[in-house]
Amino acid sequence: MKTMDLAMYIGGEWHHGGGPRLDVVNPATAEPLATIPDGTAADLDSAVASARRGLAVWRETHPRVRTQVLFRIAETIKARAEEFAHLDGLNLGESMGTGMWTMHDVVARRFEYYAGMADKIRGDSFVTPGRFLSYTLREPIGVTGHIVPWNGPLWIGSRTIAPALAAGNSVVVKPSSEAPITMLKFAELCVDAGLPPGVFNVVTGRGSGIGDLFATHPGFDAIYFTGSTVVGRRIMEMAARNNVKTVMELGGKSPNIVFADADMEAALDGAILAIFANSGQICVAGSRLLVQESIHDEFVARLVEKAKAITIGGPEDNAMMNPVISAAQKARILDYIEQGKKVARLVTGGGTPADPKLQKGFFVAPTIFDRVPNDSVIAQEEIFGPVLSVSSFRDFDDAIAKANDTRYGLASAVWTENAKTAHLAAQAIQAAQVFINHYYTAAFEVSRSPYKASGSGMSEGPDAIYEFLNQKSVSVKIGESTWG
Ligand code: NAP
Repeated sequence: MKTMDLAMYIGGEWHHGGGPRLDVVNPATAEPLATIPDGTAADLDSAVASARRGLAVWRETHPRVRTQVLFRIAETIKARAEEFAHLDGLNLGESMGTGMWTMHDVVARRFEYYAGMADKIRGDSFVTPGRFLSYTLREPIGVTGHIVPWNGPLWIGSRTIAPALAAGNSVVVKPSSEAPITMLKFAELCVDAGLPPGVFNVVTGRGSGIGDLFATHPGFDAIYFTGSTVVGRRIMEMAARNNVKTVMELGGKSPNIVFADADMEAALDGAILAIFANSGQICVAGSRLLVQESIHDEFVARLVEKAKAITIGGPEDNAMMNPVISAAQKARILDYIEQGKKVARLVTGGGTPADPKLQKGFFVAPTIFDRVPNDSVIAQEEIFGPVLSVSSFRDFDDAIAKANDTRYGLASAVWTENAKTAHLAAQAIQAAQVFINHYYTAAFEVSRSPYKASGSGMSEGPDAIYEFLNQKSVSVKIGESTWG
């Protein structure tokens, strides 16, 4: 296949940049797929200046028109879903089915949802009779910077881009240099939908290069970062020097708790999905499985059987599990597996799958460690790969103590037939999401905010729109005050 030579999208035009280019690799074959510019400080300056010009137009655009444009973006995503799913398949190694679901049920849906909000941004008013009229003005924050990880360029990117545009902001995005393709294609689609030039811009390049410059660039009014806790903390520290607002969606090490009274078959399937979907490269993956002691042995034995039955392959193989994103990520995961072998019992997987077809791409076998001490590295650090840590608990209090014994607070799940246990656990767990008797199906129409080192700020649903708006209070003196 011919390598795609991609360009940055700035001010409504494509920019190839004068500097070096970076390779984008197909993780299923380890072959080159595309090249992108390794953007420079001058490219970022140009994108931010263009976004400032775009802002002047977009913030004055009638909210009704913003609604129409966002709906058209959603329609175009659906119309071109197959093309986008195919490109994500090549770039992320994921199956066509996953890509089609992402485009229709996540990306297009988010644009529809926030299209509907663009003309419903309202304020409050308060009247002190005969004295003061006070009211709120909600205004776009301005030029917003968005840094997106590789595990879902549009899946993750649309979570901040859609509400940012709905609220009247302009956008500069930096996708991961490992997975930039569909974000660049998305720029084309914005033009077709009628978004004025400069409102949406994409720069490309290394995180440690152009990405790092985001946090200190004086032209941003807010930065929305999704990625690892380590990089997020660095961006927060640097942005704080300019008093720039940051919203952070960071890493996780989510507990998946199975009580003895759970529907065991459902909990087994849920535990498999929780860690092996997208090869474990999901921020909310259920990577710590806590099973009540009385069912632990049977549960783990059956879990191992299910893990061994998982099919592995590239995007076209219709397999249950695909490659991880890069050689570096695979090496990182294998390193965690070696550390795990020293502290826990490896019950399945533990390296590259044996199939000769899977030696070239970046494949890792579904791996389960049992009897994992909660203070070990594999129980505490986010591996972001198909590696599950299992341990047991005695009773409710022990389960909650172990579930919360982590610096992260992104997601969790509870499996039980007892409604009281489920709701008490939901209250006691320190995490932004609690799935009860399933994993992953969270309605994004409901807002949430991460706990602990998993981030800060509201995402999804109606409340997220306020992360993209400034709020001003205006008070008008309409009569003499009686307060002296
Ligand atoms: P990452 O290394 O933190 O990178 C995330 C993004 O930041 C990429 O675009 C990356 O660019 C860029 N970046 C890297 N170093 C940077 C720096 N010094 N300054 C500015 N930008 C920088 O994370 P990742 O490995 O791509 O993604 C996996 C992580 O994302 C996991 O921790 C996962 O939990 C988290 N995540 C969280 C959520 C959530 O909603 N909470 C969702 C998805 C993923 P390059 O890739 O080009 O280096």
